[in-house]
Amino acid sequence: MDVVVVGSGPNGLAAAVTCARAGLSVRVLEAQPTVGGGSRTLDLGLAEGMLHDICSAVHPMAWASPFFQAFDLPSRGVELLVPEVSYAQPLPGGRAGIAYRDLDRTVDGLGPDGAAWRSLLGSLSRQPGHAVATALGDKRSVPAGLLPRGIPTAARFGLGVLEQGTSMWDRRFVGDVAPALLTGVAAHGIAPMPSLASAGVAMLLASLAHTEGGWPIPRGGSGAIVTALVADLEAHGGQVVTDHPVRSESDLPPARAIIFDTTPRTVVEVFGSRLTGRAARALTAFPYGNAAAKVDFVLRGPVPWQHADVGRAGTVHVGGTRAEMAAAEAAVAAGTHAERPMVLVSDPTVVDPSRGVGGLRPLWAYAHVPAGSTLDVTEAITAQIERFAPGFRDVVVTSRCVPAARMSEHNANYVGGDIAAGTVSLWRVIARPTARLDPYATGLDGVYLCSASTPPGPGVHGLGGWYAARRVLHREFDVPHPPRLAP
Ligand SMILES: Cc1cc2nc3c(=O)[nH]c(=O)nc-3n(C[C@H](O)[C@H](O)[C@H](O)COP(=O)(O)OP(=O)(O)OC[C@H]3O[C@@H](n4cnc5c(N)ncnc54)[C@H](O)[C@@H]3O)c2cc1C
Repeated sequence: MDVVVVGSGPNGLAAAVTCARAGLSVRVLEAQPTVGGGSRTLDLGLAEGMLHDICSAVHPMAWASPFFQAFDLPSRGVELLVPEVSYAQPLPGGRAGIAYRDLDRTVDGLGPDGAAWRSLLGSLSRQPGHAVATALGDKRSVPAGLLPRGIPTAARFGLGVLEQGTSMWDRRFVGDVAPALLTGVAAHGIAPMPSLASAGVAMLLASLAHTEGGWPIPRGGSGAIVTALVADLEAHGGQVVTDHPVRSESDLPPARAIIFDTTPRTVVEVFGSRLTGRAARALTAFPYGNAAAKVDFVLRGPVPWQHADVGRAGTVHVGGTRAEMAAAEAAVAAGTHAERPMVLVSDPTVVDPSRGVGGLRPLWAYAHVPAGSTLDVTEAITAQIERFAPGFRDVVVTSRCVPAARMSEHNANYVGGDIAAGTVSLWRVIARPTARLDPYATGLDGVYLCSASTPPGPGVHGLGGWYAARRVLHREFDVPHPPRLAP
């Protein structure tokens, strides 16, 4: 075997596809009975024939990622359905911030803060390639395509991060709607707010919301992305073996290179005695962050949002005002449960009616909680949604909660429920998982990491896998140029 990939998340599969397309023999070993890690769509048995996205659901990064752009999901039958409203932020009093895909419409809706919204995000959303190159590079090289024309965009991105990631974050706004709308996006980082890391998340995702791709939802669920990756891997001679956890070297077949789509912990567990003390310490020191607890609902009708346009959004950030969300994330950072936690919600039937079954529909939701929390957050999420959608309780048929402490049972990468596979801070975006010149190297010859624990971090973009595989091809197999990814 040339290459073994441990873990079949989007990064692992991206690495596997890249190596297989270069003509290498590739085997992916997956611990779970199902392929796809954080991009799986499964029947949870909650309603007959209904499928739920057990992790990721909404895919601005899959649309924008240079890996997936080259891989060309649409021509492989993955339909990225684009909601008219990328995301919404319901507010007290029946008000709401609405991020339409159309920037002009968003600006009009934001009244006195419309111009500030445009000046912060307008030029970034016109140059998504430059914004993506700035935010989703390997943090060790100047991304191809950024020089020289992307420099102004990168500078604007950086200034936006400096403003929105510090005490200056209210500087440009006069009302409370636009700041809340942006903070709902920043909260994806599960980090204290304001902070530079959460502001980076906000600048990237908020600018992508106003692009052609918007915040898309794949028809049929996130698993469609996995199906396309596995089909391409198999077409190039690769294979995926499920129910195959790798816990020690004896679980690995002989291979010239091994790429771990896992946390660095697994590398230490598997190769501990062979790693130098320094390398092992660096990998072990990589910290894990706060967590998410997931609830999958089955509803008998749409969420009765007070503000009609919230019901047209692919994603709803349920956390109230900027101050309320900052307080909720501060509570989590302090290791406690927020009384009103940050909640993220998506109803895929907004763009994909085929997800509804027999008059029922799935609702995807999760709440931010402290690492390792064992709390069943169903009531906390229900109460938060009820604040902005009175009567929500009455449309709930059934639900299932996976508390943070149990997230690792279906994906070992979610240590303590940390869905980012490692803390998201400015330093840990760069030193992810270590400050080595090559963040994908582990200190052992032929052994690499490629998961969300490496740059550029969490999200379904496949870029960790792609960047790691390019290094593997170059160093281990003398292949200087990566293969074409197009179908
Ligand atoms: C609730 C939730 C919501 C999310 N929402 C979004 C979203 O809407 N959009 C978005 O872009 N991202 C979202 N994410 C994040 C996204 O899912 C991840 O960042 C992404 O899947 C990371 O990809 P990966 O390939 O690095 O790892 P993963 O997708 O986590 O895959 C890792 C794989 O490795 C396997 N594995 C681990 N250890 C071993 C071992 N020892 N042996 C064998 N196999 C092993 C795991 O079983 C898993 O299949 C969400 C995550 C969660 C949990």
